[in-house]
Amino acid sequence: SIVVTGATGHLGRHVVRQLLDKVPADQVTAVVRNRDKAADLADLGVRLAVADYNAPETFDSVFAADDRVLLISGNEFDKGRVRQHTVVIEAAKKAGVALLAYTSAPSSLKATLADDHRATEEVLVGSGVPYTLLRNGWYHENYTEQLAPVLEHGAVVQAAGEGRISSASRADYAAAAVAVLTGEGHENTAYELGGDEAWSFAEYAAELSRQTGREITYNPVSVEDYTGILTGAGVPGPLADVFAGVDAAIGKGELVVSTGDLSRLAGRPTTPLAEAVAVALKG
Ligand code: NDP
Repeated sequence: SIVVTGATGHLGRHVVRQLLDKVPADQVTAVVRNRDKAADLADLGVRLAVADYNAPETFDSVFAADDRVLLISGNEFDKGRVRQHTVVIEAAKKAGVALLAYTSAPSSLKATLADDHRATEEVLVGSGVPYTLLRNGWYHENYTEQLAPVLEHGAVVQAAGEGRISSASRADYAAAAVAVLTGEGHENTAYELGGDEAWSFAEYAAELSRQTGREITYNPVSVEDYTGILTGAGVPGPLADVFAGVDAAIGKGELVVSTGDLSRLAGRPTTPLAEAVAVALKG
C-alpha cells in the first residue's frame, strides 16, 4: 500500500485526497496519532493506523514489505524531530518498504529550521531504504492564512528586506508527493521544490492592495525588531527566533527555488500567489 504519516495535518489531508484520484482507497493507509481527528479520512475509505513519532513501538506493525511511504516531517520543534523521524525510518527499514519519501527543506535554506531536515536526510540516505527527498519550499499559506493582523494594520511586517521567495500552495507540494508515490523512477533522488514565480513582500503587499482595494504597504523591519514583534504577540522565544531566522534567510534569497521540479512533478504550473490570496480573502 501507500502509507502517509501526518495524515491529519494540512499537507497530509491534501496528499490523501489527491491519492484517491489515482488509487483505490483500500490501497491507502493514513497514519494518524489521534483517531478522533481522522473520522473524515476513515469516511473516505482509507485504512487508518494509529502511531506516534514519540513512541517507537507504535510503528512496529504500521509498514509492510513493498509499501511506498510518505514521511511528513513533524511539527514538535521541542521534541527532537530527528529522533522522531528516525523512529519512522527504522520501522520502514525493518519492514522492507519499497520507497520512503520525506518532506524536507530546500538545500539552499541555511536557517536553523533546516537543521532537522538535513539531519533527517542523512539518517534516511544512510539507512539504505530507497528514498526520495521532497525538499519543499515555502507554502503560500504561511502568509495567506495569517492575514488578520496584516489587514488590521494595513501593513505586511517582515524582516526579509527585498528578498524574494518562490512559494507554492500546499496542494502543489501534495501533487508532487503523489506523483512520487504513484510513479516510477524516483528512487534515491532529491527534488528541490518551489513555485514557478518568485515574489517579494513589496509585491505581496501590492497584490493585497489590489485585491482588497485598500492601501497595504510592506514595512520591512530588522530581524531583531521582528523577533520582538513576534514575542510581543505571544510567540514563544525559541519559535520567534526560528521565524526570524527564516526571514533573514529569505532576505538572502535562500528560499528561491528555480529548478522547475515542482511543476514538472505536478504536471501543471504551480498555483499563483494571487490565487492563494483570493482564496484566503474569500475566507
Ligand atoms: P501540520 O502542522 O498541519 O501537520 C503536521 C502533522 O504532523 C500533523 O498531522 C501532526 O499530527 C503530525 N505529527 C506531529 N507530531 C507527531 C507525532 N509525534 N507523531 C505523529 N504525528 C505527528 O503541518 P503541514 O501539514 O502544513 O506541513 C507538514 C510539515 O511540513 C510540518 O509538520 C512541518 O514539518 C513542515 N512545514 C513546512 C512548511 C513550509 O512552508 N514548507 C511550513 C510549516 C511546516 P496531528 O494532526 O495529530 O497534530
